[in-house]
Amino acid sequence: MALTTMGDQPLDRSVDSTSPGQEEAEAIENLVIVGSGPAGYTAAIYAARANLSPLLITGFQDGGIPGGQLMTTTHVENFPGFPDGILGPDLMDRCKAQALRWGTRLLEADAEAIDLSRRPFLITAEGRPIRAQTLILATGASANRLQLPSEERFWSRGISACAICDGATPQFRDEELAVVGGGDSACEEAVYLTKYGSHVHLIVRGEQLRASAAMADRVLANPAISVHWRSQVADASGDDAWMNAILLQDIATGSIRELPVRGLFYAIGHTPNTRLFRDQLQLNAAGYLITQPGRPETSLEGVYAAGDVADAEWRQGITAAGSGCQAALAAERWLSHHNLAVTVRRDNVEPLEVGEPKRTAISDEANFDPAALWQKGGFALRKLYHECPNPLIVVYTSPSCGPCHVLKPQLKRVLEELGGRAQGVEIDIEADQEIAVQAGVSGTPTVQLFLNKELQQQWKGVKQRSEFRQAIEALLPAPV
Ligand SMILES: Cc1cc2nc3c(=O)[nH]c(=O)nc-3n(C[C@H](O)[C@H](O)[C@H](O)COP(=O)(O)OP(=O)(O)OC[C@H]3O[C@@H](n4cnc5c(N)ncnc54)[C@H](O)[C@@H]3O)c2cc1C
Repeated sequence: MALTTMGDQPLDRSVDSTSPGQEEAEAIENLVIVGSGPAGYTAAIYAARANLSPLLITGFQDGGIPGGQLMTTTHVENFPGFPDGILGPDLMDRCKAQALRWGTRLLEADAEAIDLSRRPFLITAEGRPIRAQTLILATGASANRLQLPSEERFWSRGISACAICDGATPQFRDEELAVVGGGDSACEEAVYLTKYGSHVHLIVRGEQLRASAAMADRVLANPAISVHWRSQVADASGDDAWMNAILLQDIATGSIRELPVRGLFYAIGHTPNTRLFRDQLQLNAAGYLITQPGRPETSLEGVYAAGDVADAEWRQGITAAGSGCQAALAAERWLSHHNLAVTVRRDNVEPLEVGEPKRTAISDEANFDPAALWQKGGFALRKLYHECPNPLIVVYTSPSCGPCHVLKPQLKRVLEELGGRAQGVEIDIEADQEIAVQAGVSGTPTVQLFLNKELQQQWKGVKQRSEFRQAIEALLPAPV
C-alpha cells in the first residue's frame, strides 16, 4: 500500500479488499496491526498520530469479529470516560472512528498467514501479501464455550463468559446464578457473584476444586455458594426474553435435573488466538504470547503483543487498550532507531472531527423515500416489499447485537456498489417484534433477500460482502 500525503481525509479509508492494486502488494508498511479489539485500535490511534499511517487488519471470522470481544456484550460500565456506561459495540465504533480519523487504514479481513522468518515480515490476508517492518499482534483470546444446544439463544440473555463484566446486570440481582468451572477463575467469579445473586451454584466436573487452597476454602466456607460435584451442564432453558434454568447432569449416573437459575457464567478458560505465530514466537504453556515483563516486546525484535493475546490474567478492555498504547510507542521507537519509519505529512494538523454517529431515521409517511438505498422500520419495509421492483435486502437487528454493527456497513457498501439497483431495509426486532415473528426470525443478524415479494435467500450471522453481492447480482437483469 502506498504511503500518501494526508490532507483532510474522508473518514472511511478502509482498504478495498476486492480490487487490490499491484502497487499495494509491493509497498512496505511501517506497521501492521492484527486485530481490532481495544488493543488493536488503541495501537492504531497512537501509531496514526505519530504519522506512521498504520494498516490494521481487523479480522473477520477467525478468532472473533471486527471490534473484538466487546462486540459480544451489552453494557460496559468500567471503561473510564463513560460515567453512565456504554454499549460494547458503541465503544468499539468510537475506537474505530478515532483510529480512522487520525489516518489508520483498515483491511476488513482475517490475516491468513504470518511469516516472521524474513524481514520485512510477510502477512497474507485475502490471499495477497503485505510486507511490514513492524507488527503488533492484538488478536485477543476467545473465551471457551460449552457449546450447549441453546447457547446462542441465551448468549447475553443469561449466559455470559465474564462474571466481572456482566454480574451487576439488573436481571441477575437477587436471583440464583450458576458458574461452571473448578479453577481459580471459577471460584473467584462465584464469590464475586454472591454480591449480586441470592445464591450461587458452582458446577464442577470433578470431585475437588483445582483452585488454590485459599480460594477453594473461601468458596467452601461461603454459605451463599453450593458446589455441585461431578456435574455438568447439559443445556439451558427459558423464554424469549431470558434464560431461567439449566439442565444439570450427574456425570456418574447420567441423570438430568432442572436447576432454576437466571444466570450461567462460564469460567472454563480462554484460548488465545495465537495459531498463526505459534511456531515462530515464544508462547507460555497455555498458548499466550510471552513478552518482556511489563513490556510489549515479544521474543522477536520488531514484533509486539498487545491485549488479551499476551494476558492470561487481567483480560479487560482497559488493560488491552493500555498495552496497545505501549506496543505502538515501542514500534515507533524501534522504527526511528533503525531509521525505517516512512512518515506521512499532514496538511491539516487537526483532522476533521468525527462528531456523533449518524443514525438512520425510522421511515414514516413524511420521510419515506422510494429510491433511498437504505431505510429503517416497518413502514419502509411494507412500502418496499409491495412496490420495489429491485432486489430488496432486509436485515433484522437488535440494539445490543455486535455482529449487527459489523454487518450493516457491509450491506450498505454492497448497495452503494450496486448503484441503486438494489435497496435495503433494517428492522429492529425489539421495536418491530410482530414483523420479526412473521418473518420467522430467531436471532440477529438475519438477512433476507426478496424479489417481487418472493423470498430468494436467507443468511444468519456475519457473512462476506461478496456473498451478498453475488446473490443480488444473480437477480439483476443481464445488461443489454
Ligand atoms: C462477554 C464479554 C463481556 C466483557 N465485558 C467486559 C467489560 O464490561 N469490561 C471490560 O473491560 N472487559 C470486558 N470483557 C473483556 C474484554 O472484552 C477483553 O479483555 C478485550 O476485548 C480484549 O481486547 P483485545 O484487543 O486484546 O482482544 P479482542 O477484543 O479479543 O479482539 C481481538 C481481535 O483480533 C481479531 N483477530 C483474531 N484473529 C485474527 C486474525 N487471524 N486476523 C485478523 N484479526 C484477527 C478479532 O477479529 C478481534 O478483532 C468482556 C469479554 C467478554 C467475552
